[in-house]
Amino acid sequence: MDRREFAKLSAFALAWTGLPSYAQIPALSHNPVGYAAIGLGSISDIFMRACAQSQTAKVTALVTGHPDTKGAKYAAMYGIPKTSIYTYETFDRILDNKDVDAVYVGLPNSMHCEYTVRAAQAAKHVLCEKPMAVSSRECRQMIDACRQARVKLMIGYRVHYDPTWLQAIQILASGEIGQLQSFQGGFFAQLPAGAWRLTRKLGGGGALMDLGIYPLNAIRHIAAEEPTDFTAVLATRDRGGRFSEVEQSMEWTMKFPSGIVASCGCSYGQRGPSFLTLNGEKGYLVMEPAFNYDGVHLRGEAGGRPIDQPGAGKLPFQFTLEAEHFASCIRNNTQPESPGEEGLKDMLAIEAIYKAAGAPIA
Ligand code: NDP
Repeated sequence: MDRREFAKLSAFALAWTGLPSYAQIPALSHNPVGYAAIGLGSISDIFMRACAQSQTAKVTALVTGHPDTKGAKYAAMYGIPKTSIYTYETFDRILDNKDVDAVYVGLPNSMHCEYTVRAAQAAKHVLCEKPMAVSSRECRQMIDACRQARVKLMIGYRVHYDPTWLQAIQILASGEIGQLQSFQGGFFAQLPAGAWRLTRKLGGGGALMDLGIYPLNAIRHIAAEEPTDFTAVLATRDRGGRFSEVEQSMEWTMKFPSGIVASCGCSYGQRGPSFLTLNGEKGYLVMEPAFNYDGVHLRGEAGGRPIDQPGAGKLPFQFTLEAEHFASCIRNNTQPESPGEEGLKDMLAIEAIYKAAGAPIA
């Protein structure tokens, strides 16, 4: 690691001492940031629970295709007035809702761009789920729309806010594992037939777009440089029709200008660990599970001593920290730690990986 990389990592690790962001800005608790949750599926459900545990972030509006059922249920749960339930058709009227500072985009991947652009045009800040969109062209469109509207754009890379991840980054920055040499990472799941994630129209791609993005983003973020050389192999072993539109599995390698190499895998059709390994010249760190909602476990050897650190915090704490970080950025006019540009860089790498595998790109 050169001095510039070290300084960047140190500053970031020091900025995050594990304290929730609202502790640094107590005045915010009297003026919580109001979020509109768009798309009331599984991740929005977690996000709304996360905000309910926060003093600085609050869900104040809902956008849904099912206003009378899901909309009414969540409105009752979180004390949201009926007038603040929107459909996809009436969404743009959110411009007039003074209780909404920002939107949380929890929609299928191919809808992120449209709703980010429409939210920006309605003068609302945007916290958008990963993957940011389904192409680098869309990512650039989102960044431009937010810049023009002078609203902030953050991508929901929740592990950036997890204290165990921050501890790993701090150990690396301390020099205790020496110069970073390589990474290995993976994220695997079994997806049921019929899921929107298995369609190109809504998913934009398969396991890489949805799961592989976790090790990809973590490695780019920690290495603090952009990969330039890729090899990739795409494989579909299940011939039952589940993977007629998107890949089942992807294995890839990336090389960075410094010489750091990374080897990663992901799949929609197998069970496997969610893990990330950082190998240094003097020690190593392993996170397993790495990308789960809680229970991130850090092990390894650093400074000549063993490390075994079970993660602190329970679901939905990563989402609370994420929602509060963006709330702090909005109230203090600071830049999010995981801005739209971070989502764009991942998408450029995803396109390079698909290209290296000889696969079609969205
Ligand atoms: P879900 O299918 O659970 O929810 C998506 C919601 O979007 C639906 O409930 C629906 O809400 C709305 N929607 C609008 N149009 C459609 C459509 N054509 N098909 C399906 N849903 C539609 O998905 P998830 O919550 O799991 O994922 C949403 C996003 O969050 C994805 O981009 C995913 O990658 C990301 N994600 C991030 C995670 C993280 O850890 N950061 C983890 C899981 C997902 P309604 O009925 O209210 O209209």
